[in-house]
Amino acid sequence: KQGIRLQKILAENGVASRRKSEELIKTGHVSVNGKIVKEMGIKISSKDVIEVDHRIIKKLPQRTFLFYKPQKVITSLKDEKGRPTVADYFPDRLHLFPVGRLDYDTSGLILMTNDGELANIVTHPSFAIEKTYLVKVKGLIGNNDLTRIRNGLKIRGVKYAPAKIKVRSIDRERSNSFVEISLIEGKHHEVKEIFSFLNHPVRRLTRIQIGFLKDEGMRSGMSRELREEEIKRLK
Ligand code: URA
Repeated sequence: KQGIRLQKILAENGVASRRKSEELIKTGHVSVNGKIVKEMGIKISSKDVIEVDHRIIKKLPQRTFLFYKPQKVITSLKDEKGRPTVADYFPDRLHLFPVGRLDYDTSGLILMTNDGELANIVTHPSFAIEKTYLVKVKGLIGNNDLTRIRNGLKIRGVKYAPAKIKVRSIDRERSNSFVEISLIEGKHHEVKEIFSFLNHPVRRLTRIQIGFLKDEGMRSGMSRELREEEIKRLK
């Protein structure tokens, strides 16, 4: 039978996490077309009416956008200091949230979605979706630095997995290097931690690729909706 599993619909529409949604079903809080459903995995079509504790769950259409975050924009839905956030660039009614994080001073690509499953796939290391950054660092990157990054590092007890890296250019006059690094895990401040540990502090950081998705001439503040086939390819 065609359709999406009940617990997945609950999770995707913000009722609760997948695990929590399964609990809600097992404990008899969920009905389909007026009948309580306790077994797992029943398939739902667009015509079915789902209720949780007698409240109808409105199925949001799934939307996913590729956004080029400018610098000085916070990756969250609200900021208590009133700074601009990624949510400011999209209508509230879409209920989008950012997939993963970019620092305040980092620019570049981030996905905005209301599809929890897609968010999980893109962020969880087990799906191995590479994120590629263009990094301007202080000083002249040497072969020794490249080898250490390619082998993986341990910094103050935190392990950073081996990463792909290549040098794009070196500006000897101003003593800067421009490198491209690709990571699968997304540890807190990962790129900055790695380079500052090697005495090449990051001066500018831009994410230029998420899996097969590239910026393709997008500028700061621009976004575009992903096509159906791009979403299929990610999932
Ligand atoms: N690594 C960082 O240090 N900052 C980012 O914003 C992304 C990756």
